[in-house]
Amino acid sequence: MSIAPRRGLAASARARQLSPSASMALDAKAKALKAAGQPIISFGVGEPDFPTPELIKRAAERAMADNATHYTTVSGDPVLRTLVADRLAEMTGVPFKWNQVIATSGAKEALYIGMQVLCDPGDEVLMPAPYWVSYAEQARLAGATVVPIDSTPPNWKLTPDDLQRHLTPRSRLLVLCTPNNPTGAVYSDAELAALAEVLAESDVAVLVDEIYARISYVPVGRWLRAAPHMADRSLIVDGVSKAYAMTGWRLGWLVGPPDLIETASAVQSHLTSHPSSITQRAAIFALQNNAAVENTVDEMVGIFRERRDAIVAGLSSIEGVVCSEPEGAFYVFPDVRGLYGRPLGPKGRVVNSANELSAYLLEEALVVTVPGEAFGMPDFVRFSYALAMDQLQEGVERLRAALN
Ligand code: PMP
Repeated sequence: MSIAPRRGLAASARARQLSPSASMALDAKAKALKAAGQPIISFGVGEPDFPTPELIKRAAERAMADNATHYTTVSGDPVLRTLVADRLAEMTGVPFKWNQVIATSGAKEALYIGMQVLCDPGDEVLMPAPYWVSYAEQARLAGATVVPIDSTPPNWKLTPDDLQRHLTPRSRLLVLCTPNNPTGAVYSDAELAALAEVLAESDVAVLVDEIYARISYVPVGRWLRAAPHMADRSLIVDGVSKAYAMTGWRLGWLVGPPDLIETASAVQSHLTSHPSSITQRAAIFALQNNAAVENTVDEMVGIFRERRDAIVAGLSSIEGVVCSEPEGAFYVFPDVRGLYGRPLGPKGRVVNSANELSAYLLEEALVVTVPGEAFGMPDFVRFSYALAMDQLQEGVERLRAALN
């Protein structure tokens, strides 16, 4: 009997429920338009526009020359794991050991594995909204139910009361992102301690995304410094992508209780095996050579701060846009409701949602933005200011013309 090949094979229900990453899709569109010669200005990018520091690049060259080009252990090079553990221990006072760290292919994989390790079908994942695009999809892929908790401008922070109100017997996990993408909110130790107090009576786990911790204009609170007693049910995510302008190198890490990290390692052993051996060597160098590398990072943060001030001032001067001042990361997330329902720009176009506004701005001004719908918060639009000041200024001028 011959078996005819199936046509139009459908994807699994599990995969079909996913929305592709809106910010990556927009970034791809911007890159394609740029490649086609269009003078696009992109406020869509989620990565520093600075090159990776030269010293780190040299370390990768040495790694290749030394033939560090084979499989490493699944959880990553013990030297890297030790450096990460020591850093976090120093920062928080919690005595982390190297076996509490797994190196991953970017912070994104660390978050993915964290959700896989912690969530069962039916579990509820508490997610302050707006939230970074991948959290919700990763939680759903793990079979969990997303419970958004709306936060509000100008401070955009989850409050203890709101957290309390959303706790149920099915609550399994709270996801915190500080400094925050897309709002730029930075929690203080005191604010984090107050949230931890709400969880004290529960057994809710906490997944903390600290990928922007190095990019902040105010002191950054640290979950485990504020709530060291939560160490046995917290997973911390960070990496080199944003701090060292190494997005393409793909290296992050997940830190937590040894048994959970061992389970995380089992997941990774069937997924990516481990992050690139060359990248791991480069990251080891970055973490070992603090002073030289950190100076470059400080300069980058100083430039981000100037751009933040410029974009907040620029957007605030456009009628109908309400822009609060972010304290960290490289995004602003203004309220655009004031632009709805009235004729905009030379063509008098009317928009009634952030999605429509972003589409209009791309078409009319060749400016890329990411609509708030992607972050579970309609009526706001995310602007990344990881672009050169002259581009930023021109972008704001184009917005002004298109939104007049
Ligand atoms: N978390 C947040 C909040 C992010 O914005 C990003 C990158 N856009 C990531 C995680 C993923 O970082 P990585 O590139 O290291 O996977």
